Amino acid sequence: MTSINAETKLIGLIGNPVKHSLSPEIHNRAFQVCHLNMRYLAFAVEPEFLESAVKGMAALGFGGFNVTIPYKELVMPLLDKVQKDAKIIGAVNTVVIKGGKLHGYNTDGIGFIRSLEEKGISPAGKNIVIIGAGGAAKAVGIALALREAKSIVIANRTFSHARDLSCKIAELGVKSGAVDTDWLKEEENLKTADIVINATPVGMLIKEDSPLFSLNMLPKGAVVCDLIYGPRKSKLIQEASDLGYVAIDGAGMLIYQGAEAYRLFTGLTPPVEDMYKALHVALCQKM
Ligand code: NAP
Repeated sequence: MTSINAETKLIGLIGNPVKHSLSPEIHNRAFQVCHLNMRYLAFAVEPEFLESAVKGMAALGFGGFNVTIPYKELVMPLLDKVQKDAKIIGAVNTVVIKGGKLHGYNTDGIGFIRSLEEKGISPAGKNIVIIGAGGAAKAVGIALALREAKSIVIANRTFSHARDLSCKIAELGVKSGAVDTDWLKEEENLKTADIVINATPVGMLIKEDSPLFSLNMLPKGAVVCDLIYGPRKSKLIQEASDLGYVAIDGAGMLIYQGAEAYRLFTGLTPPVEDMYKALHVALCQKM
């Protein structure tokens, strides 16, 4: 590892809490294998210090920073420029600092798309069901709409949240509907789904939590995604692979959102395999 000296470039992570984050392990491993004199540090920031923390990082010459809950939306007015995808999603998770100016991006959605592409799957022309309408569902839904999905249904516990996201997707010219999670119980409804994505925490804290739909309703060849990455194999992912569906957990999205941020911070190709290795080690230690 390069030693820390007067030229070490810092990248931050701000959120609250941040102690559960696996990003420091993933990014520091990437900097290490690429012999970059850079370090990635996490900061738990209290809401009243958000603005001074952001300005402080710019003043201290940080290369940039990632943003996590609860600041992905609140950070936006503090930036000089926000990329189009991030504007549509309404959240920023990556900020690059160049010449003292702050440029905001959202790499969560593209991270999810890359995790599909890694398995040879394209969203173009697909009928997609997203369960959930929170931050992750928004990033994923908008990214899928921008990549020519055929239709996207948003199924959510709170119907009004599903409706808001569905409207944003429809504004991008993609057929979209909003339903509540009871819709998932009707066998007919999932018959034409090509890709179903769990974007809720159901199955995360309580590993045995049953999925919000029955996998038997899906057509053969459907792709089942769970954005959860810890536990590595949620019940949904376990059942989906047992039944022969293509099952994709959230590790790929986590790695590729980090990889895209790394690309923005450094201008270099991210060492994805090494980032995966760092994630596996960190998951074993923390989960
Ligand atoms: P969020 O903004 O809090 O949204 C949570 C969503 O889940 C909301 O739509 C909420 O519905 C729904 N929900 C929560 N508890 C539920 C329950 N018991 N039954 C049914 N629906 C429920 O959270 P988020 O940031 O979108 O994260 C969602 C999941 O994605 C988490 O598991 C998180 O770890 C994962 N994630 C993964 C990555 C990755 O890189 N792999 C990135 C971000 C998030 P209401 O609207 O009714 O509240």
